[in-house]
Amino acid sequence: MPKAEGLRGCHKLVIIYFSFLALSFIKFVNYIRKPQTTEYRTLFPMNILTFDIEDWFHTHQNRQYYSGHIWKDLPSKVEFNTGRILDMLGEHDLKATFFVLGWVGEHYPDLVKQIHSQGHEIAAHSHWHHNPQFLSPESFEKDVKLCLSTLQNIIGEKITAYRAPGFNLKINDKWAFEILLANGIEVDSSVELWKMPKNIPVIIETPENKILEFPLIRSTFGIPYSGGGYFRALPQSYINYLIKKHEYNLLYFHPRDFDSENPYTNLFSFFRNWLNRLNTGKCKNNLNTILLNNKTHTLKQAVEKYKKNSLLHD
Ligand SMILES: [Zn+2]
Repeated sequence: MPKAEGLRGCHKLVIIYFSFLALSFIKFVNYIRKPQTTEYRTLFPMNILTFDIEDWFHTHQNRQYYSGHIWKDLPSKVEFNTGRILDMLGEHDLKATFFVLGWVGEHYPDLVKQIHSQGHEIAAHSHWHHNPQFLSPESFEKDVKLCLSTLQNIIGEKITAYRAPGFNLKINDKWAFEILLANGIEVDSSVELWKMPKNIPVIIETPENKILEFPLIRSTFGIPYSGGGYFRALPQSYINYLIKKHEYNLLYFHPRDFDSENPYTNLFSFFRNWLNRLNTGKCKNNLNTILLNNKTHTLKQAVEKYKKNSLLHD
């Protein structure tokens, strides 16, 4: 073998060896960072059941193309499809967390009252469904305040949980968490995490405070499998496998996920129109299977578990 070629082969072996060592080290660090206490073990498995209450046309991808003011002229299906969700939860005798769009509360207050009167948790999902990454801190706070005041006036209770449209907050958006905390939000569910560092709820520290984050996690292949279009697109057996495999799952659905007759509109791209109907006829059955085979919690119940296990305190 020529000398240069032999050296190249040797380099490859060294690189593979050190890559293996680095991967083992990362796995070890993750293992020791995960609290292995009794309290920790009693918290999991934890499957949080949530619904984002918005209409079929409230998709943030399309938000920039038209004014929210034309929403009231589009045929609304949010009441009918949320009714389907409430019926399904009633059949299972289950409670869930409903992240309601402030705009929906403004136009359909009786729907919010109905969800609340059935014992479900009401949380905030912004007022105008803007992606917070495109908002100034002032605009973000204005939207949060409008959503909270609208929903709180309807239910007569303080709201303490928030989810940004499209899970569009990042773990380093401390400015946004400061605003949420200043407005009475204690629990957030707006961050989408890759597998690192942990696939479980985390406490995000801001300069002055901290907030408990229930993130949306992805599968090893980077797919946020546990709700919405991804849940509808993937094979049911694969979803069932992932839910059993992960100790923490954040289930998230929209009323439109259960409607096989979502309207087509030229306001949307061909892809969005297609996605709005993809496997919507099967979604209810597939979610039923998950609910029959897995215990689920509301966000509030999960927070109670955290408090009980003293994991919210240093
Ligand atoms: Zn949304």
